[in-house]
Amino acid sequence: MKNPNFILPQLINEDVKDYRKGSIERIEVQDVYDKMFNENIEIPLYIGNEKILTEKRIEINPPHDNKKVVGTFSFCNEKHVHLAIENLLKVKNIWTNTPWQDRASIFMKAAELIAGPYRSKINAATMIGQSKTIFQAEIDAACELIDFLKLNIVYMNEIYQEQPINVDDVSNKLEYRPLEGFIYAITPFNFTAIGGNLCASPALMGNVVLWKPSDYQVYSAKIIMDVFKEAGLPDGVINLVTGDPIMITDIALKNPNLSGIHFTGSTDVFKNLWSKVGLNINLYRDYPRIVGETGGKDFIFSHPSADSKVVSTAIIRGGFEYQGQKCSAASRIYLPSSKSHEILDYLNDQISTITMGSPRDFQHFMSAVIHEKSFDKIVDYIEKARKSKDAKIVIGGDYDKSVGYFISPTVIVTTNPNFLTMKEEIFGPVVTIYIYEDENWKNTLEIVDNTSIYALTGAFISQDRDSITYALKKLRYSAGNFYINDKPSGAVVGQQPFGGSRGSGTNDKAGSKLNLLRWVSPRLIKENFNPPTSYPYPYMD
Ligand code: NAD
Repeated sequence: MKNPNFILPQLINEDVKDYRKGSIERIEVQDVYDKMFNENIEIPLYIGNEKILTEKRIEINPPHDNKKVVGTFSFCNEKHVHLAIENLLKVKNIWTNTPWQDRASIFMKAAELIAGPYRSKINAATMIGQSKTIFQAEIDAACELIDFLKLNIVYMNEIYQEQPINVDDVSNKLEYRPLEGFIYAITPFNFTAIGGNLCASPALMGNVVLWKPSDYQVYSAKIIMDVFKEAGLPDGVINLVTGDPIMITDIALKNPNLSGIHFTGSTDVFKNLWSKVGLNINLYRDYPRIVGETGGKDFIFSHPSADSKVVSTAIIRGGFEYQGQKCSAASRIYLPSSKSHEILDYLNDQISTITMGSPRDFQHFMSAVIHEKSFDKIVDYIEKARKSKDAKIVIGGDYDKSVGYFISPTVIVTTNPNFLTMKEEIFGPVVTIYIYEDENWKNTLEIVDNTSIYALTGAFISQDRDSITYALKKLRYSAGNFYINDKPSGAVVGQQPFGGSRGSGTNDKAGSKLNLLRWVSPRLIKENFNPPTSYPYPYMD
């Protein structure tokens, strides 16, 4: 599998640009933002070599400026979905037989295009369509996507090199075949990089992919498709359809050639997909691989020994960056009674300096939440807390959707560790604090472990080594990504492979070899150089 002519990318993460005042990258992204904000883009379906603009269109409105229309995307019908799948299956044979070095080169080039000429475009699309600040766009749409595209090539190569032993006159070889049918990638609104990775990683391993992005990430999805095309990805290796998720899914899941689902999104949708696969199981030629990274109810536990400033900073960055719309966002917090006043004071001081607004205005730490349904759901949680005798809103609790879907960073304190907002995923800028008596910290870990159905991320903040060792054991299954003295969000590809278990997903760790292994079906090839010529064994003499 080694090719002396192919040089693997280095295992180094893309540098995050800082967009300081006066920097070239800042001027460039602002120019591109303004241009894109004021043009009326028409986003097609991408099927084979065709870009199809359908009759039915959906408007794209920036969440921070919800009456503004920046373009439309095409809404597919059933025929388009069938056509997209037929096209994938036609292209499949050529792509499966494309040498891995060529597949890798295409995705390396895609990474270089994003790092260079497409960086501002993909960041601006993410700022406009998903309301990310420039920093949040840069770490996601540019850096994380580049890292996924490059580092997966290294992991692919590691997989290919894992071979069985050869003995005497026998050669044994594992051929890492792509899956036989097609992969269906269904992606969420909140990370441009996840959209790109969920279709690119199976494609890198030689699969063909039907990609259905979220309606709220279509703008940046279009840039990703343009990058893939320019990088030389053959037409029809990844086909993009946008439209009714249930209709598209039902067609994909009834196709006998479905070989895998690569999903990131909410837990209920994933459970629904899984049960549909179960119902259709007799239709398929393969047992479809099901990979899903889903919701979270991520915690920060502050031990009595923790530094209060470290705790309050972790709460603010972990809970409110990107408006709390990260699956890893901190949303339930456990504070020791002895430090709770100090930590709440720090929170108050720091949160009072946070401003919200359009991401075009670089002073803001936060912007709007993604859409009206989400806004209404978050507001409902805030109002339930306001009315409850078990809870008190101590910071924030304000909201306004007249211009954009803005919700101020909100801190609730509850006396009930099982209060609604301690258990359910809110997916907005709302954190709930439960204050425990210092001497009960060990028992409180039991509560942390049992409060919610999720087990995605969690943070333990402490200056006491024994307590860290204890928490690591006690919370062994409470989080797939466990952070010590840090916020629970911000996983970097290659450094913190990401995923959780229980209700949070199949924990196949995006951005690692573990994920790529799901997209291959190894064939063992044994060759005997000295085949026997008679059947009796020596013991029979
Ligand atoms: P979502 O579940 O609403 O949508 C995800 C995708 O599923 C979208 O493409 C959507 O169109 C599609 N979809 C929706 N309903 C469907 C149905 N009935 N059948 C088939 N497809 C359907 O999620 P979202 O709001 O886009 O993203 C937020 C969710 O994603 C949160 O729950 C968050 O925790 C989760 N998430 C998890 C991770 C992780 O790595 N664990 C990462 C990012 C987001």
